[in-house]
Amino acid sequence: MRMYDIITRKKGGGSLTEEEIRFFVTGFTSGEIPDYQASALLMAVCLRGMDEEETAILTDAMLRSGDVADLSSIPGVKVDKHSTGGVGDKTSMIIGPIVASCGVPVAKMSGRGLGHTGGTIDKLESVPGLQTSIDPERFREIVRSTGIAIIGQSGDIAPADKKLYALRDVTATIDSIPLIASSIMSKKLAAGSDAILLDVKTGSGAFMKSIDDSIALARAMVSIGARSGRRVMALITDMDTPLGSAIGNALEVQEATDTLRGKGPDDLTAVCTELASYMLLLANAGSDIASCRNLVEDAIRTGKAFDKLSAMCEAQGGEASVLKNGFEPARVISPFHAKTGGYITRMDAEACGIASLALGAGRARKEDVIDYSAGILLQRKTGDPVAAGDVLATLHTSDESKLREAEAILTAAIIIEDAPPVPVKTIHAIVTEDEVIMQ
Ligand code: URA
Repeated sequence: MRMYDIITRKKGGGSLTEEEIRFFVTGFTSGEIPDYQASALLMAVCLRGMDEEETAILTDAMLRSGDVADLSSIPGVKVDKHSTGGVGDKTSMIIGPIVASCGVPVAKMSGRGLGHTGGTIDKLESVPGLQTSIDPERFREIVRSTGIAIIGQSGDIAPADKKLYALRDVTATIDSIPLIASSIMSKKLAAGSDAILLDVKTGSGAFMKSIDDSIALARAMVSIGARSGRRVMALITDMDTPLGSAIGNALEVQEATDTLRGKGPDDLTAVCTELASYMLLLANAGSDIASCRNLVEDAIRTGKAFDKLSAMCEAQGGEASVLKNGFEPARVISPFHAKTGGYITRMDAEACGIASLALGAGRARKEDVIDYSAGILLQRKTGDPVAAGDVLATLHTSDESKLREAEAILTAAIIIEDAPPVPVKTIHAIVTEDEVIMQ
């Protein structure tokens, strides 16, 4: 078999066989197929696409390139959740404890921040002492005893994807639905849960900027899951405006804690209630979505979901007392004022994420150190009326010299106009194996 022929077939719009796809993934991972041939094939896939069968085989080949987690020693239907990433997206820290407090085990591997989006692992590490590098046996032990653990990717999960992703990043081949779907699903399937709920973000702060593309990505991932015998469904949720009010690590953990105690912002509470309810449905914890919503609301009202987050933090070595008593505030907290009056018609999520990075909340380079106290607390959101001089947000940082750049980014990101905007839904669609239900 020759890579030249495989590239030629895909360039002409043909479908690749199982042998050809496995030959490519195995050969590229081992180093026998050079980057230039892999790049050519990736570009051909970007331009010509892949059908469902090819995408499922590519996913399987990548997932088999490394370790596959075995969660069989944990009783019950293990359920996982994946978000395609967004600004202010702290949903895993809220939904995981809710679902676990309803008796469904959550064994979750999460990622670090990427570009303007934060990562759950970075956020959790703002809890003093909390460990996210935990070996597989201890991970399973925590899930068995506490019902939930959220750790960084351990072992050698989907090394083919790691290598391919790095190549895609520098060859303008990230934005291909079959490549994104297979990349995400190879890691999710290798993480070993029985059911997976996907939160596919759509809007300016998301990978997929349009609802149609987001639905196409969701359908591709749900189809891969079904072909590998897992229960998978997806919610398409809005990421045009940051989710909730907090952007930045400790600020987001604080907001997650508030939400688990029933005092979170409305948009975040609504999205988390839906995501947690569908996770419970996938795990057969309730007979229908209405009964699962009741379980979620009960978990928040009784405090058992908050107690579950505290228990998880303690089990992972963290000082859970900060969840109750609050984090050490940032050294500098500076108000950001409205220059004119009117209604906020746009709050660009991606730009808000970049402003938060400028305050020190993320890494511009891999080796940068995160300022856990840094970030933005939005006092107003899209649709709110404002008067000139009102405080729209507070900027938090340890380094006062970073304020000016963040303020300039936010000034361009927040648009104030005379007329109120048309309200935007927080959940746009639900995608199952059989149908797409628009909300
Ligand atoms: N996240 C991934 O893990 N892979 C992609 O290709 C895009 C987003």
